[in-house]
Amino acid sequence: MNYTIPFILLLGLFGGAQFAHAQKELISEIESPGDVPDEAVVDALSAEAEAAAVWDINDSLNYIPAFDEYCDWNSDRVHPYKYTLTEMTDTIVIPLAYDSCSFAAPFIGRKTSDFGYRRYRHHYGVDIKLYTGDPVLNAFDGVVRVAKYDGDYGRVVVVRHNNGLETLYAHLSELKVKEGDWVDAGKAVGLGGNTGRSTGSHLHFEVRYLGEPINPNEIIDWELGMLCSDTLLLNADHFEYLKEIRKRKYHRIRRGDTLSGIARRYGTTVGRICRLNGMRSTSTLRIGKTIRYN
Ligand SMILES: [Zn+2]
Repeated sequence: MNYTIPFILLLGLFGGAQFAHAQKELISEIESPGDVPDEAVVDALSAEAEAAAVWDINDSLNYIPAFDEYCDWNSDRVHPYKYTLTEMTDTIVIPLAYDSCSFAAPFIGRKTSDFGYRRYRHHYGVDIKLYTGDPVLNAFDGVVRVAKYDGDYGRVVVVRHNNGLETLYAHLSELKVKEGDWVDAGKAVGLGGNTGRSTGSHLHFEVRYLGEPINPNEIIDWELGMLCSDTLLLNADHFEYLKEIRKRKYHRIRRGDTLSGIARRYGTTVGRICRLNGMRSTSTLRIGKTIRYN
């Protein structure tokens, strides 16, 4: 984990003062006539200075965008949240742009795959054709939450924005930022590529609020590379599609069925089917019995 910015700011605000205080004490110890600094005193003082410099997430609420909405900052996992917004009752006003510098299109190009169902699987973002090495730009001001390699997304960057949204940039060939970096709209977060589960160079781009995916087309006009409007009024309608996805779904076992075949058919994994049904991957499938795949 890297908390460089908040760490430096905090060190500046608190750590610096305590460290200076500790140094002064140490100097006065040394300056006392005939006094040699005791090793234990030096150790205690450096431990104190170190303790003052240790950054704690609770000290940093001002430096993490939208922390009061998320109550979380996780740099290890792309999707750490467990919110369900299908039943939200309020409309949340999300400012998208104050002026022309507040937004940059991540990449202007041809859309090759849209948000929505693709066979049995929902596609939670849009795919934009690019060439490996093309710069991919950060959409809104914010802080990099994740910058790492993921088996599915490949090299991926997730940015938490000051407006509360998170955007995700996947299949990059190279990362240009690291977690904890402040990034302005228009800053290159990486170079386009074909890493992870991808066939052909493209940008997979997602917009999420509290982890719940929003159709990026509601926000960005990809033809013009501009925002659709200056404000997003977010309500339960934006997440209505998730109700269908989250419904329990079953498959009736037929002759010749295998778990891997069923998983492939419904765009899921053997592991997920086993978890949903409390079974092992080696369990016998009985013809006529139903198993849950979603
Ligand atoms: Zn995609």
